[in-house]
Amino acid sequence: MKARYQYRFYPTDQQKQSLAQLFGCVRVVWNDALALSKASKYPGYNVLAKILTLSKQTEERVWLKDVSSVPLQQSLRHLESAYKNFFDSCSGKRKGRKVGQPRFKRRTNSQSAEFTKAAFSLNNETVYLAKIGDIKPIWSRELPSNPSSIKVLKDCANRYFLSFVVEIEPVNIEAKNQSIGIDLGIKTFAFMSNGESAKAPSYTKLDRKVRRLQKKLARQQKDSNRRHRTRLKIAKKHNQIADTRKDFLHKLSTKVVSENQAIILEDLNVAGMLKNRKLSRAISQQGWAEFRTLCERQCEKFGRDFVVISRWEPTSQVCSECDFKWGKLDLKVRTIKCLSCGTEHNRDENAAKNIEKVGMGNRHDYKRTQRQSKTSNGRVSQ
Ligand SMILES: [Zn+2]
Repeated sequence: MKARYQYRFYPTDQQKQSLAQLFGCVRVVWNDALALSKASKYPGYNVLAKILTLSKQTEERVWLKDVSSVPLQQSLRHLESAYKNFFDSCSGKRKGRKVGQPRFKRRTNSQSAEFTKAAFSLNNETVYLAKIGDIKPIWSRELPSNPSSIKVLKDCANRYFLSFVVEIEPVNIEAKNQSIGIDLGIKTFAFMSNGESAKAPSYTKLDRKVRRLQKKLARQQKDSNRRHRTRLKIAKKHNQIADTRKDFLHKLSTKVVSENQAIILEDLNVAGMLKNRKLSRAISQQGWAEFRTLCERQCEKFGRDFVVISRWEPTSQVCSECDFKWGKLDLKVRTIKCLSCGTEHNRDENAAKNIEKVGMGNRHDYKRTQRQSKTSNGRVSQ
């Protein structure tokens, strides 16, 4: 299976210049190809690659010859997969959130360029990239095998990274428990069916700073140096938030996946919830989608089962002990006593237990009636 390993590096001034030039060329190749595709229809990689070769003979694009040709071709490959995802999403072949048309790349966004085997080599501590030179990344962990490609990234806070795609062996650790259900929430990030819970780190302080800076940004003159500096500050704060969250999510997913054979999550309509403006900021900071992706990847690595149950399962409306259905609860209700068996439940833990039950195939018999009633309300689109 494939995995990404990312390392930070600090380029020399000369390398910064060469990289800026390379990023610029990659962006121009993408934007040219995209403009051409938008003007009529997407002509396919081969045609675009030929056009790229020809354009290097013209005066306007002759400078594309100054950088390695591999990242430029890769840029066209990326456009190819962007279009494929877009087409597949339109035809319904690709499940999940709708993928939009590829978009033009901007100078102010994060930048990247990809090198395949023909254009890089690894020796000892250094990585050689064609027409960029030797780079010495900070090897925070060992690279498990030879990479098949390397991506150079520069983020909005001007940090540089090398990202390696490597083949890794699945890890062989026996799971302690058979299965676990996880209920994701805002106040408590995750509630587990075994009674454990995990609280997310607080982002409010950093978030407040970001908001203040954003207000400042709005007042500043366009294209001014001050505005540019503010933008950089905002990007840095965003990075801090993202790093804290990534660390938390990574640790949690590793723990959960290494201890359990089957991991069951609820399919959350995150995109839909983000439309609710009151909730969107809190939700996007939580990183539910990120957590799910991490769990899925870890499950592959550890050889575990990853199960996602339908978001229409009434996991908070049923007693996890006796299947008695009490119906919808107000969000304020945190504990509930089952009228049928008398068990006292914590709301989230009960939901987590139901998620586990449904995911493990112990389906409740209320399911059919549930679906019918929902269809008659017109809430289910299936
Ligand atoms: Zn009960």
